[in-house]
Amino acid sequence: MELKRPGGGEAIEISALGQEHHHHGEDHHHSHGHHHHHHHDEGHHHVIDLEQDILSANNLLAERNNGYFEAKNIFALNLTSSPGSGKTSLLERTLKDLGAEIRFSVIEGDQQTTNDADRINATKVPVIQINTGQGCHLDSNMIHRAMRELNPPENSILFIENVGNLVCPALFQLGEEVRVVIISVTEGDDKPLKYPDMFASADICLINKIDLLPYVDFDVNKAKEFAGRVNPKLQFMELSARTGEGMEAWYEFLRVGNKNHK
Ligand code: MG
Ligand code: ZN
Repeated sequence: MELKRPGGGEAIEISALGQEHHHHGEDHHHSHGHHHHHHHDEGHHHVIDLEQDILSANNLLAERNNGYFEAKNIFALNLTSSPGSGKTSLLERTLKDLGAEIRFSVIEGDQQTTNDADRINATKVPVIQINTGQGCHLDSNMIHRAMRELNPPENSILFIENVGNLVCPALFQLGEEVRVVIISVTEGDDKPLKYPDMFASADICLINKIDLLPYVDFDVNKAKEFAGRVNPKLQFMELSARTGEGMEAWYEFLRVGNKNHK
């Protein structure tokens, strides 16, 4: 994978955790993406071992990241979603609206391009792009390396925009304090049932694009009920990053999180 600063900095190569296993002929994306199946498949125990090695190495580094965030009083949020849920637009608006009162930095995860990092860079907030290539999630080693480049200030908020994918980002701790899952009303309201691990591991669920509710079949109460089945503690916020409706609750959550770190 590659680390890039927007505006044409030098790219830095970083190995994803578990990448060394690829030459054994394992496809690690599929092995962890189909986590549950392998538990019931006697013929694939080597896949489970591989997966546990990768995940435990990841968790150890995530602990280190978490200690780093604590030492610097950084409130770190891991933003997860399907592609197209509006994560980057939500970030852009948040950075513009709160940039005068809170110090932010951003890590952008995408398989290719620096398009999202370029959008964040336009808000003047420091940003690092991680291009994962074929990788479909960020891992804690990528965050650890990105921290060295980004060097986020003390008493600040770090947003980590994960790769758009509701499957494996659920399994990879990054050292974040809060995990956010974003769904938009243009998606199915049964997403929490289809991707239970993501919703079970999240702390906050943002329901985005509520300005489009009159034009779609999305049932907000149903989505909340489905998500509540897999995670009764999940907190919900309904908002529109486009119109600004509902954003104040999200901002208040960020202000409180930032204050707790002083
Ligand atoms: Mg994005
Ligand atoms: Zn993945």
